[in-house]
Formats: sequence, structure tokens, C-alpha cells
Amino acid sequence: MADIINLLPENVANQIAAGEVVQRPSSVIKELLENSIDAGATKIDIIIEKGGKKNIKVIDNGMGMSVKDSKMAFERHATSKIKNADELFSIQTNGFRGEALSSICAVSQVELISKTDSFDFGTKLNLEANKLKKEKTIVAPNGTSISIKNLFFNIPARRNFLKSDSVELKYIVNEFYRIAISYPNVSFKFTNNSSEIFNLPSSNLRKRIVSIFGQKIDEKLVPVEEKTNIVEIYGFILKPDFSKKTKGNQFFYVNNRYIKSSFLHHSVSSSYDGLIKENYKPGYFLFFKVKPETIDINIHPTKTEIKFDNEQILYSILKSCIKHSLGMFNISPTIDFTNNNNLYNPNYNKKDLRNLNVDIEVDSGFNPFKTNDTKLKNNIENSNHFVEYESKPIQDLTQTIFEIDKLKSSIKLFQFMNKYIISSVKSGIIIIHQNRAHQRVLYERFLKNITQSKVQIQKLSFPIAINLSSEMRMIYIKYEEEIKASGFLINKQKKESLEIVGIPIYCKEENVEELLEDILESIQAKIFNKNFSQSDILAKILAKKLAIKTNFPLKIEEQEKLLDDLFACKEILLSPFEKKIFFNLSLKEVEKKFNL
Ligand code: ADP
Ligand code: MG
Repeated sequence: MADIINLLPENVANQIAAGEVVQRPSSVIKELLENSIDAGATKIDIIIEKGGKKNIKVIDNGMGMSVKDSKMAFERHATSKIKNADELFSIQTNGFRGEALSSICAVSQVELISKTDSFDFGTKLNLEANKLKKEKTIVAPNGTSISIKNLFFNIPARRNFLKSDSVELKYIVNEFYRIAISYPNVSFKFTNNSSEIFNLPSSNLRKRIVSIFGQKIDEKLVPVEEKTNIVEIYGFILKPDFSKKTKGNQFFYVNNRYIKSSFLHHSVSSSYDGLIKENYKPGYFLFFKVKPETIDINIHPTKTEIKFDNEQILYSILKSCIKHSLGMFNISPTIDFTNNNNLYNPNYNKKDLRNLNVDIEVDSGFNPFKTNDTKLKNNIENSNHFVEYESKPIQDLTQTIFEIDKLKSSIKLFQFMNKYIISSVKSGIIIIHQNRAHQRVLYERFLKNITQSKVQIQKLSFPIAINLSSEMRMIYIKYEEEIKASGFLINKQKKESLEIVGIPIYCKEENVEELLEDILESIQAKIFNKNFSQSDILAKILAKKLAIKTNFPLKIEEQEKLLDDLFACKEILLSPFEKKIFFNLSLKEVEKKFNL
């Protein structure tokens, strides 16, 4: 047989290698920002066009590169950060593989301008698919400006695989958060399609978190601090009642490097046990300092996973320190620390605090039909269908007889486990999932109201200002029309806040902020689903948020009303989320159970 093995042409080899480092525009941002930080930058400007697909530009005031280094930087395995294998174990920088720039350049058009303090002039290079196209000596400020244009211009298949501009931007912003949080002393400016979305001055960790996520997060932050000889932990966790069903606000850093770790996440979540609803995720910004030789950061090429030598111990230390912080901050309103003898007891051990009953009311839920529960009472529009059912004195015969009659007429319905409504029908019985049934009812109603702009609005006597994080602001801008159509009268949008002057009648003034935030967050979580119209997504979110939950006792009249409404819907079999609403148990099936 003839020889069949060839060496791949260099450009193909480069493209293959690039695949590992550069998955999408957000990978480019990560590498460029890390390089700027490694170069000692204190001020970084990021300019994005078209979700990073057209251009990603990062300008820093770091140490810059000499003419020779500027060119060298694009060679594979060219790095100034390590010189030999021993240094691998004591890396202090973000990069060290010398792969990023060569990989990025293999699949894009690059313009680099760099100047060091020791030269009067800077260098400007233009490269394309690793080939130097132009070189110039120019006047430039100290530092580096690098622009990555038309990512994957030479690999159409990869370019087509990229998502919409807004989704790619979201990935970029997430990457940006990770870095901006771990370098609060560096100031960042972030411009997307010519509009500035972040301008973060140099500050401390707490202020940095607040300037990214909005003023409101400030009161949610609970400090965490622990020093042992294995690990030093610091940062913030979010109070349990601010945990979210959707992911987000979960940041772990080891030696200031962002990592993902399911076992550390588990340790934090289990510390919140009993304090948050099932499936809810606590938020955290936690930093771990460990000896570099006790971790292996090389197990994943993009370096977000990490292997610790002492996983078990770390797990326990973290858990105990989170519990301690939760205890400290949540019992404080109910226990007067000044009168707490524990604190004056020389044998006092902070661990004791963990055994105290933590008095937090989370997962309180609400009953839609309780008279004093305004939220859902309003939610069930025109609640005249719901007859308040009170016990009457026995002498009031006519009334009693009337009520018995009424009961008799509805005896066919029965609520089971506060979750299902069972009704007998001609052919057998049907078992209805109350939450899904109500979601269907509300969904159809909201969809109609939103598309026809028919929502009844109540004007507020005093406008409510709602602060939004930059990310939420972006979502709001995108969905503004539908949000307004769903009954929110929004006067003007200031830089950081919305001024609400009217709210839909299904919403209560005190809940408006929570509801709007929930809407925006749910939209954010669903942003990837492009198959539905924006009105549809909004109607679904509202229905899900406001529907009667399971574990709610419903009175007979309420059960009746729900079924009436359900059977008046266009679709009765499936919830808006395609879940089965009810099923039928036929007489035949029942008899089979009795072997009849
Ligand atoms: P690594 O960061 O792993 O060393 P890169 O390919 O990301 O590899 O960068 C190669 C080299 O280019 C770096 O080691 C550094 O010397 C230089 N470099 C890259 N970006 C910058 C920058 N913004 N400022 C100064 N030097 C830089
Ligand atoms: Mg690098």
C-alpha cells in the first residue's frame, strides 16, 4: 500500500487548534481581557459590534509590547509568562499557554496597536489568518489596543453556527461579569453598538457588584469570611429570600480565577437547606485562596474547571462558613445581640450560632383565595365568582338550607391533596392539575389582553421608581412594547431606573417591583427560545407567575370557577408549557381495579 499519511497544511492545523480556544466571541473577550490584566492594565475599554461577530476591540493601559514582541505574540506557544515547566506550579497570571492570540488570529482579522513606555513610538500590525499583512510605526499611547474583526471569516460553517447578536452579546456580558467582579480595582468601560452599557470605576468588591447588578443588590449581600490554613474564603452570599429559580449570580473564584465547581455549589446550596424553596439556587460571589500546588487548573482547556487536592475538607469548611454567615445575618433582627449572653461568654464559639433557630420566613407562598391576600385575589379577575363561604348561625335556617343546596349541587367536585381537582363525569372521573389548569386560563387571558392592549390599568397616585441592572435594562428595552401592553404604564426610562405610573389591575402596588423583576428575569432565562413571539413569552411568564400554585386549598366555588374557566379555553388539554392538564379515569378502568 502506498504511503497515505500527510502533514496538515499549517492553516488547517491552526484552525483546528483555534477550535479549542475560540468557540465564540465571548471566548475572545475572555482571552483579551485576561491579557490586558496580565499586562498590569488599570483601565480597560471594550467595544463590541454586532454581538462581537463584526468587531471586538479591547484597549488597555498596560505595559504594552515591543515591536518584536508584538509579532511574536501571534506565534503558537509564544508567552512571556512562563519560561520552564517548574513555573507552571506557581502561575500568578491568567494566561500562560501562549495559545490565545495565535488561535484567535487563525480565524479572524486582527489589528494590533501597542506601545511600551521605553519607546517613543508604537507598532501597528494587521494580520489575517496568522499572516502579517501590514506593519507600521505610529504614534500611540502606552498600552495595547487589539481589534478582532469578522471572527470565523474563513470558516463559514463556524460563523453560521454563531447565535443571534443579542445571544452572543449575552455570552460576552457573562464573561465580562466574571472578570469585572474579580478585578474591582480595574476600571472598565463597555460599549455595545455605540451605546455604553457599563462604566465601572475602580472600586472594591462590594461596590463593583453593586455597580454591575444595580443598587438593589446591596441590601441582599451578606459578607463571608473565613481563614484556615488550608483555604482563605471571602466574598458575599445573597440572602436566602433572594435566591432564584433561574441560574445567575453564582460566581466562584480560586486564586482570583473564575471557576465552575459542582461540589462547591452543592456545599453552598446545602447550607441554605430549609431556607430556600426546592430547586431554587442561592446567589454568591465567593473567592478562595489556596496554595497553587494544591490545585490542578489544567484539567480543562478553557480552564473553568479545577481539581482540588482537599475537596472534602474544602466542602466542609465552606459549608460551615456559609451557615455561620447566614446565621449571623438572619437571626440579627430577632435576637438582640447586646443581650445575647453567648457573646460575652468566654467559651463562646461562633459555631454555636449555627444551632440557633434561624428565623427567616421564606417560601411563605400565598393563597389566592384568602380574603386578606390581595395579590392573588386581584389576580383572579373579577372575583365575584367566588362566594365567600362563612359559617352561619344554625337558627338562620333559610340561609343554611340555601348553602346545603349549593353544596349539593357542587358535590361532584373534590380537591385532592390540595393539588388536584377530581370531578365525576358521565364516563368516569377526571383528575385535573389545578396549577396547570389555572396557567392555561390566565395564559389565554393575558395573551388576548396583551395582543389587543386591553389590560385594565390602575393609575398610581405616586410613581414608583424601579432600579434595573444593566442586563435587565437591555432586556427591558427589547421587550418594552409588550411589557407596556401587559398593563404597565411607564413614564420614562432614566439611566438606571424605570418610572412606573400605572399598573395592571391584576397586580398590587406593593408587588409591582417583584413582578416586573420576575418578568425580566424569566425573559432573560428564555431569551434563547426564538420560536415564540414576545407577547406569547410574556403571557406565559405572567400565567406561570400568577397562577394558583399547588398546595392551596380551594373552596368548592373556586374549584367550580376554575373548571368553568378551563373548559371555556381554546385549548384545554395542555398547559401553556405543554404539560398535561387532566386525565380521565374511565368506569372501565375503575372496574378493572376491582377485577369486575
Ligand atoms: P498567554 O497569555 O498565554 O501568554 P497569549 O497568546 O494570550 O498567551 O499572549 C501571548 C503574549 O502576548 C503574552 O504572553 C504577552 O506577553 C503578550 N500580550 C498579549 N496581550 C497583551 C497585552 N494586552 N498587553 C501586553 N502584552 C500582551
Ligand atoms: Mg493570554
